Amino acid sequence: RSIYRTARACGRRPVSFEIFPPKGDLTLDVAHDVAGQLAELAPDFISVTYSAGGSGNKRATADVAQMIQRDFDVPAVAHLTCVGATEETIARAVDDLRAHGIDNVLALRGDAVGADEPGEYRYARDLISRLAEEGFCVGAAAYPEGHIACDDARANIEHLKQKQDAGASFFVTQLFFDNEFFYRFWEAARNAGVTAPIACGIMPFLGKTQIQRMVFMCGASLPSPVVKLLARFEDRPDDLRRAGIEYACAQLVDLDAHGVDGLHVYTMNQPDIARASMAALRAAWRA
Ligand code: FAD
Repeated sequence: RSIYRTARACGRRPVSFEIFPPKGDLTLDVAHDVAGQLAELAPDFISVTYSAGGSGNKRATADVAQMIQRDFDVPAVAHLTCVGATEETIARAVDDLRAHGIDNVLALRGDAVGADEPGEYRYARDLISRLAEEGFCVGAAAYPEGHIACDDARANIEHLKQKQDAGASFFVTQLFFDNEFFYRFWEAARNAGVTAPIACGIMPFLGKTQIQRMVFMCGASLPSPVVKLLARFEDRPDDLRRAGIEYACAQLVDLDAHGVDGLHVYTMNQPDIARASMAALRAAWRA
């Protein structure tokens, strides 16, 4: 049971968006407005992140995912992490997802913060098998350049395959700025027997600080065309943001032309990013 099977039936590449749920100043009303603007673009699904740490409202993910399905008739994927979780907290999360009518879950380990102990779920694959047994359509994370804590390219692919074996029926990648990394990773994954669709996660760079924080967190490379754009527009934030979105759109169009399994845009709750992405892809499909 893969959400990608339904999406593919439309006869074009599945396109999906990621948003984050209410936190801090972001209220449910604002999240509703963001989701509504994304839904107008008719994505195949919208995924909603989950706050792994002590901060953030853990129920907010299910609330927003439910709202997306109920108010906008777009399939939702709820992220769920297992770092620090116990059998009991996961059972509660499962009940909560069911009560919210959520069938699709992106199962992640998350990253330990503060006092989080390793817990009963060591790796994402433990959560994947638990959720697959419960009948959810389960997706998982994939790392074209390897996870930040994994230097071994072969182990990176082995861990991916383990996730599929545990029951993951689709993957979404970590962001990358050089599509060549993805093409090599995709080929290695296929050679290792990974048959589940792997959607490419693309995040535009919007500013120097944002992108530095991201690459330090996830270990993605900044190729020289990106570094040059960051240098050229250093003192012109609006132009830099525009250049970042254009660069992401060009990545999406190139990936689409290579026939990838799906395209997933990290919108950072900024609907203009989703609009520009969809416009670029639609123009490519018409051409
Ligand atoms: P795992 O697959 O468990 O991997 C964690 C580490 O363990 C990696 O280094 C891996 O190589 C290693 N490993 C895996 N299996 C084995 C094994 N059998 N033996 C030895 N080592 C192993 N975080 C959030 O908190 N909330 C979110 O909503 C969220 N959404 C995300 C969405 C996407 C698409 C991606 C790519 C990441 C997301 N993350 C999110 C971040 C994610 O939680 C972190 O990247 C985390 O560090 C790893 O999660 P994972 O599910 O890949 O873990």
